[in-house]
Amino acid sequence: MSDPLSRSPIPRPMTLEEQREWMVRTQLEPWGIRDARVLNAMRTVPRELFVPPGERDAAYYDGALPIGDGQTISQPFVVAHMTEALKLGSSDKVLEIGTGSGYQTAVLSLLAGEVYTVERLAWLSEQAQKTLKEINCHNVTFRIGDGSLGWPEAGPFDAILVTCAAPNVPPPLIEQLANGGRLVVPVGPRGYQHLVLVCRKGDVITQEKLSPVAFVPLIGKHGW
Ligand code: SAM
Repeated sequence: MSDPLSRSPIPRPMTLEEQREWMVRTQLEPWGIRDARVLNAMRTVPRELFVPPGERDAAYYDGALPIGDGQTISQPFVVAHMTEALKLGSSDKVLEIGTGSGYQTAVLSLLAGEVYTVERLAWLSEQAQKTLKEINCHNVTFRIGDGSLGWPEAGPFDAILVTCAAPNVPPPLIEQLANGGRLVVPVGPRGYQHLVLVCRKGDVITQEKLSPVAFVPLIGKHGW
């Protein structure tokens, strides 16, 4: 997603707070992230707690980082870009597919009323639950399972964010969008996708292609 030339080394010494500000100034604002609420959430969430201990020095690096089992914590720009596209209101009910480290969950939890998040790998979900508790995140409900099915009992949702790549937009997620709801999902072949923004207005569903991205696959009934 990012231009490799934009990857500058993290200047040292910097406090963690300064590193977050540096991330906002050099990785988000110059690349078009404008929503002040999103920028403030990115300034607030301690990303270093969501990366493996051995990667903490690289927590504010301009890229995705490995979190185990071939999974990744997404690049800060991608987290901010997808979140901004959802145009969240403070009382929105949000569904996230792919809890992973819980970092994106934490960003969503600061901007919405309630967050429901689904992860297929139990150990990752359990670790994310611990981290989110540690930072006093109280408006998140977790589920371990196949998120390509959505979470029908908890829906409809004002916004749905999928943080893994699907071959097509999973139909259950469109069904679980509330009137006026927005869904952002990476769609395309393994290794190369486009973010797609799906909006519902009554029975009218529109789709818009956003930026190119590369996400790990959505493994499940409506994924790979
Ligand atoms: N948002 C995460 C973060 O901030 O760390 C990054 C998520 S990682 C790119 C994608 C996640 O989707 C992985 O943890 C993976 O196990 C999960 N995943 C893949 N298929 C899934 C499915 N069908 N249901 C739920 N989670 C799934």
